[in-house]
Amino acid sequence: MKLLMKAPAKINLSLDVLKKREDGYHEVKMIMTTIDLADRIELEHLEKDVIRIISHNRYVPDDQRNLAYQAARLLKERYNVKTGVAITITKVIPVAAGLAGGSSDAAATLRGLNKLWKLGLSLDKLAELGAEIGSDVSFCVYGGTAIATGRGEKIEHISTPPSCWIVLAKPVIGVSTADVYKNLKIEDVTHPDVDKMVEAIKGKDYDGVCREVGNVLESVTFKMHPEVERIKEQMKKFGADAVLMSGSGPTVFALVKHDSRMQRLCNGLKGFCHQVHAVRLLGEREPLD
Ligand code: ATP
Repeated sequence: MKLLMKAPAKINLSLDVLKKREDGYHEVKMIMTTIDLADRIELEHLEKDVIRIISHNRYVPDDQRNLAYQAARLLKERYNVKTGVAITITKVIPVAAGLAGGSSDAAATLRGLNKLWKLGLSLDKLAELGAEIGSDVSFCVYGGTAIATGRGEKIEHISTPPSCWIVLAKPVIGVSTADVYKNLKIEDVTHPDVDKMVEAIKGKDYDGVCREVGNVLESVTFKMHPEVERIKEQMKKFGADAVLMSGSGPTVFALVKHDSRMQRLCNGLKGFCHQVHAVRLLGEREPLD
C-alpha cells in the first residue's frame, strides 16, 4: 500500500526572539503561514521492520539524520509498530533555506503514517510528538496560519492573511540556523511588533501586513552573508510591496498583489539569483493530503 503526502513550506511574516532560555533554546514569538510550494512524500508499506529513505537530492541525508526518518522512528517506537516503511522524498522546497522543508517532511510523515499504520492519533497529538523532532514540526503538522510561541511549538491558529503572490528568492548559499542564533544579540536588534501583524492579518488589511513584516534575525544573517541583503534591496527596487527574509534565511520573500508586478519581479531576479519561485500564500488550514 502507498500513500502520497504533500509537505508545504512556510514563511514567517513576523519573527521575534524574546530571550534565551535556561535550557539553551530561544523563546520566540512568530507568525507562520503555509505557502503553495511543497515537497512530495510517498510512504510505502514494507513487511520488513525497517525505515528506508529514498531521496535523490544530494543535500538531503538518507539515513537517521533525515527528519522524516526521525518521525517514522518516533511513531514506531512509541506505538510499537513492527512493520516498516519506505519514504520517498521528492524535494521542491530549497534545502537549508529558512522555509522549514525538513520539518514539513517530518510533519507529512507523521500525518501519513498515522493513516498507514491506523494509529488513530489526533492532529494535536501528532503536533506534540512533532515537537520532539524539531521546533517547527508542530506548526507543519497543522499548516495554515498561526502564532507560534515557546520555542516555536506552541501553536495558536489565526485567520488567513489577505491573499497575494509570494516571490521567493534563494541565493546559492545555505544558512545554519544554529549559527544565526549564536550570533544574535537580543538587546542590539530591532524587534517587530508581532501583535500589530496579528491585527493586520485578522483585519485582512494587506497594507498593514506589508507595513508590519519584520524578522529579528534579518540583520544577523545580513552581517554573515551580505548577498542576502542585496537580494532584499533588489526586490524592493523591482517593485515589491514588502520584502522580508524568512526564518534564519537565506531565502528572501516579497509580497506582491498584482500579477504584472509579480512577473516583473521574477524576470528581474532571474538574472542574478540562484532560485526564484512565485507561489500563492496558502495560509488556510485546509486538508493537506
Ligand atoms: P528551518 O526553516 O526549520 O530552520 P530550513 O528550511 O532552514 O529549516 P531544512 O531544509 O529543513 O532547513 O534543512 C536543514 C538541514 O536539515 C539540511 O542541511 C539537511 O541536512 C537536514 N535535513 C534533514 N532532513 C531533511 C529533509 N527531509 N529535507 C531537507 N533537509 C533535511
